[in-house]
Amino acid sequence: MIISANFKTFKTRLETGEYLTQLEESLENSSQEVLIFPPLTALQTHNGRVKVGTQNSYPIDSGAFTGEIGVEQLDEFNIKTILIGHSERREIIGESQKEVAEKFRFFAEKGFKIIYCIGEPLSIRESGKEALHNYLQSQFDDIDIDYENFAIAYEPIWAIGTGVTPTLEEIEDTLKWIKEFSNRSLLYGGSVKLNNTEEILELPSCDGILVGSASLKVNDFIQMIKIADSLEKR
Ligand code: PEP
Repeated sequence: MIISANFKTFKTRLETGEYLTQLEESLENSSQEVLIFPPLTALQTHNGRVKVGTQNSYPIDSGAFTGEIGVEQLDEFNIKTILIGHSERREIIGESQKEVAEKFRFFAEKGFKIIYCIGEPLSIRESGKEALHNYLQSQFDDIDIDYENFAIAYEPIWAIGTGVTPTLEEIEDTLKWIKEFSNRSLLYGGSVKLNNTEEILELPSCDGILVGSASLKVNDFIQMIKIADSLEKR
């Protein structure tokens, strides 16, 4: 399974280094694919089981894009994994589907592992299944779903950082629908906590989780990985 952590704008470089050290020490007997996405200033070369990815990058090698970073800066730390399409970038920063798709195309050409995020606002969820599917489908516009090195994170916007999650049935239903047209690994994200990790990971169509706030405590994140390990051993 893929167990991944999005630190958003939390943690310094030093804290991220300490987190990584503790995380690595706990992974000796784990078979999970573990990814962490620290803030840009905490990106660092890391040779271990955990993959360090970037929460964002401009789709350029290098150039005149004030405030952004490109592949040249990522290469310095051997970063080959990227989150694309997170709802905070779509909704707060204002990235359009066109820009998201352009990023996807660029980083796919570079061979990056992409965690591609999709998710609907509450109004769409409340409008019924057809509206939900149409909305999510539009987030695949111009995305090459045949690209091999990517996973999809289904993260309903209304579940992110709110402590509210869809029902297990709703999560499974949506993941299963995505599986009908994509054979990529499917992650769920949105208020995953220690106390709901097991039931979410147990869902038949769920191949992992993307965790925000609950990943900030390394011991909780380690416990989540252990839950994934215990499920696979059953
Ligand atoms: C996220 O931002 O990807 C996320 C899932 O956040 P949280 O776990 O805090 O809801």
